[in-house]
Amino acid sequence: MNQTMLQCQRLTHRFSSLGALVLEDVSLDLTNGEFVSLLGPSGCGKSTILKMIAGLIRPHSGEIRDSRPVGQQRTGYVFQEPRLIAWRTVQENLALPFELSRVKVDHDEIFRTLDLVGLSKSDAFKLPHMLSGGMKMRVSLARALLMQPTLLLFDEPFAALDELLREQLNEDLNALWREGLWTGLFVTHTISEAVFLSERVLVMSPHPGRIVGEFAIEGPKVRDQEWRNSLRFQQQVIAIRETMRSGRSADQEKHGLSQTGSP
Ligand code: ADP
Ligand code: MG
Repeated sequence: MNQTMLQCQRLTHRFSSLGALVLEDVSLDLTNGEFVSLLGPSGCGKSTILKMIAGLIRPHSGEIRDSRPVGQQRTGYVFQEPRLIAWRTVQENLALPFELSRVKVDHDEIFRTLDLVGLSKSDAFKLPHMLSGGMKMRVSLARALLMQPTLLLFDEPFAALDELLREQLNEDLNALWREGLWTGLFVTHTISEAVFLSERVLVMSPHPGRIVGEFAIEGPKVRDQEWRNSLRFQQQVIAIRETMRSGRSADQEKHGLSQTGSP
């Protein structure tokens, strides 16, 4: 079970030949079944890494090795915006993954998955504009789960939600992950969210984007309000914040020098 499923080796990227280096030497491994967060400030290249893993962007140099057996290489993607089709009901939105794979729509599976993400049968007949922000994210999560992914990529999915709702969705996401069906790679710029959810947190720094620290999170399997209120949780949030602050001051110094043109 504890096998490497994905290896990113020395990924380097710029979006055009003259453009700035966006990622430099980013290496990370994912082990089957784990939950890892990629934590860093806006613009440090987190989304770019996810897009590379999903095969949407090719790295300028470096390599991504997928060790999942053939037939198991299903990767789900949960975006920051729910990206639901406005004129389709929830059920019709969730039929889309089946339609795109040209297989018969499994409505029982759709209702089962809706239940799994905390939505009711009656929600299935609503249009997206009738749903709250949190409910839309739950539909988006259901859509990704319906593909039965072995790897789920999350790109700041709860960033637009208010704090208490976000905390609830984090607890629900942890419960889904504990079922053991998929490995999670979760992008966020919020330290507490990364510590709350993860077994491992990779800290990134910008200009160019690179991984500057790795933290193994010591926490219980069940991540709930008790975990959030614990001293152990707070201590790990503080330790990561310190790393990020020192990374940021080094980065600002570097930029300060180049702006003033000092030798
Ligand atoms: P993050 O997700 O950490 O906020 P991104 O991966 O979206 O960061 O972007 C990293 C850097 O690459 C940013 O400076 C951004 O402006 C730049 N960038 C992202 N996508 C493109 C693109 N398609 N073309 C040019 N530059 C881009
Ligand atoms: Mg992003």
